[in-house]
Amino acid sequence: MTDATTATGATMPVLILLGPPGAGKGTQAKKLEEQFGLIQLSTGDLLRDAVARGTQAGKAAQEVMDRGGLVGDDIVIRIVADRLDAPDCEQGVILDGFPRTTAQAAALEGLLAQKGASVNAAISLEVDDAAMVERISGRFTCAACGEGYHDSFKQPQAQGVCDKCGGTEFKRRADDTAETVRSRLAAYHADTAPLIDFYDAKGALHRIDAMQPIAAVERSLQAIVAPVTGAALA
Ligand code: ADP
Ligand code: AMP
Repeated sequence: MTDATTATGATMPVLILLGPPGAGKGTQAKKLEEQFGLIQLSTGDLLRDAVARGTQAGKAAQEVMDRGGLVGDDIVIRIVADRLDAPDCEQGVILDGFPRTTAQAAALEGLLAQKGASVNAAISLEVDDAAMVERISGRFTCAACGEGYHDSFKQPQAQGVCDKCGGTEFKRRADDTAETVRSRLAAYHADTAPLIDFYDAKGALHRIDAMQPIAAVERSLQAIVAPVTGAALA
């Protein structure tokens, strides 16, 4: 058993960002990572990395991801368990895109219990389905550092140059098509939305109106995350 208390003796903070594809989970997780020293743990990113590396898990996941379905719980839980064991996670994690099923939520409780930790806050980013296609079809990221952008809502300050790292190559995700978005939204409503009630029943749920501009969502999140991490708001 690994005890993931931090150097100060505090238990590692665990935050979950819930919300449909395109809600802004990745955008906000990266900000929280910078502001609070938390580690973003995105199962989508971990799975895309496994696909790119051609691992067994990646080969099994690729076809499901291409059609916008959910990858099997066993594969995803194994990937998360491995990642949570890395020492950097002791400083606290923001789970982005996990859990996505009740089986994953139950497995997470077990993984965290082994570390003497539990979910401190599950934050539901609430958005209209109608906004999702526009959010997702306009999404692109810096190929070098992964910073996220949008054709309408968040262009780099200098056209064609990443604000964060100066990179000039950008990429779009293969599964960000209108057709796949519909499957991903259906999977969200069928399998993931029930987790809102799950965390509400535990008293851990917070809801944020994620139709607001990025900066306003960020401020709402900071007000929830600061007390959990013990950080003071600027
Ligand atoms: P998720 O990780 O939940 O799938 P992203 O964080 O990648 O979603 O956001 C999807 C797209 O929408 C990105 O291009 C991002 O720049 C943009 N976006 C994120 N939050 C907002 C917001 N509050 N208003 C407008 N656009 C947003
Ligand atoms: P995301 O980057 O979160 O939009 O995820 C991209 C794709 O990866 C999803 O459409 C799923 O196919 C897969 N995926 C990511 N996270 C999970 C998860 N927790 N459970 C099952 N499939 C997942």
